[in-house]
Amino acid sequence: MAIKTIIEPFRIKTVEPIRKTTRKQREALLEEAGYNLFLVPAEYILIDLLTDSGTNAMSTEQWAAMMRGDESYAGSPSFTRFRDAVQSIFGFRHVIPTHQGRAAERILFTVMCKKGDVVPNNTHFDTTRANCEFVGAEAVDLPVPEALAPASPHPFKGNLDTARLRELIARVGRERIPLVMLTLTNNSGGGQPVSMANIREVKQICREQGIPLYLDACRFAENAYFIKLREPGYAHKTPREIAREMFSYADGCTMSAKKDGLANIGGFLCTNDDALAQQEKDLLILTEGFPTYGGLAGRDLEAIAVGLNEALDEEYLHYRIVSTAYLGEHIAREGVPIVQPPGGHAIYIDARAFLPHIPPSQFPGVALAAELYREGGVRSVEIGTLMFGEHATMDLVRLAIPRRVYTQSHIDYVVEVVLEVWNRREQVRGLELTYQAPFLRHFTARFRPAEAAGPAGPASAS
Ligand SMILES: *Cc1c(COP(=O)(O)O)cnc(C)c1O
Repeated sequence: MAIKTIIEPFRIKTVEPIRKTTRKQREALLEEAGYNLFLVPAEYILIDLLTDSGTNAMSTEQWAAMMRGDESYAGSPSFTRFRDAVQSIFGFRHVIPTHQGRAAERILFTVMCKKGDVVPNNTHFDTTRANCEFVGAEAVDLPVPEALAPASPHPFKGNLDTARLRELIARVGRERIPLVMLTLTNNSGGGQPVSMANIREVKQICREQGIPLYLDACRFAENAYFIKLREPGYAHKTPREIAREMFSYADGCTMSAKKDGLANIGGFLCTNDDALAQQEKDLLILTEGFPTYGGLAGRDLEAIAVGLNEALDEEYLHYRIVSTAYLGEHIAREGVPIVQPPGGHAIYIDARAFLPHIPPSQFPGVALAAELYREGGVRSVEIGTLMFGEHATMDLVRLAIPRRVYTQSHIDYVVEVVLEVWNRREQVRGLELTYQAPFLRHFTARFRPAEAAGPAGPASAS
């Protein structure tokens, strides 16, 4: 009989201690942070599932490559290695390094969009929406209906609704749509993948209308692996072959190397359009840096070049997808409502279903995230009413798994914390906003326990 146990496909060479706190300390920290976990200092977090962004553990090969980093201002060979690595997977003519994904978004929208334009996407990520709206364009989300039903186990809930895309183009006119975007995987919609068939169909519509298609490629490797697992005809292809096919339908992409670049910082913007690339490089020089480094150190470019290839390793991707699902399955089988099926980089708890006594206006996702911290020092993040305001159709709590960082026993601990809160869910209270910034308010918002929601006593009771 073949061995069935799935193990982490790496061993640990450097350790970083994590610190326990008492419940009393955590309650004081919560109050001090206005119940916003972005405002809790990281040394008081035991298991940090706030984000999978830039929290990756780098490999020995990445650290070795960093020593080779050439810090020349112009024409660094580190840039050449970075560009070649990107091109061998993504295939685009122009590769423009940026300090993170949002810098690529800002440059893309500044060059391609103007006031009154409309940008369709399966679901805009928060920084994507903010950058689009900042130049006066309208960010329109067109997810398939299954994406809005957390319990529906559709295999490609990240798909864009192509009927609604056709309808939108007919209604607003092709001239007002400078580009269509697809976010792979759909982060704000549960980390759900987009199928190759959907990418192809969206491309077909774009081709008919003469509209460029751009991919938000942050989790391209996880998306490619889901296609391999779930889409007929792809089981025998490698993740690299699948990724190359995905990108072959696009005119360019934005990328955060803090996700499937397996790096701690970095991003890039790609395009096949020579004229656009020139304008983009001009803007890059204004705020990011010279086109052969774009706000990154040479060593960062090296780490990304190696990381992009490691992210396509099949054994790594298998471990990645299976270990994320492990968390989802262990809480779902006790009744915790999660977005099904489990996403690639995170498990999303449906906070409206978890806390039905807390209305969306009292931020059930923020309340649940605060409660998971109070219970066990676990940090997660709300993706819902706080993040998207009136655009929110769900209130989710995302437990994002940093790549190659936590072991199975860490995740077993997280399962126990979630189930403890599940067992006393009626006592969790809603929250009231006391401060918000004019945009991207979730990073700095502050709260206090709501006056009259829920049957429970004061927030410190538990
Ligand atoms: C993280 C992310 C971005 C933005 O990238 P940053 O590196 O954080 O600026 C854009 N889109 C998606 C889908 C993301 O997950």
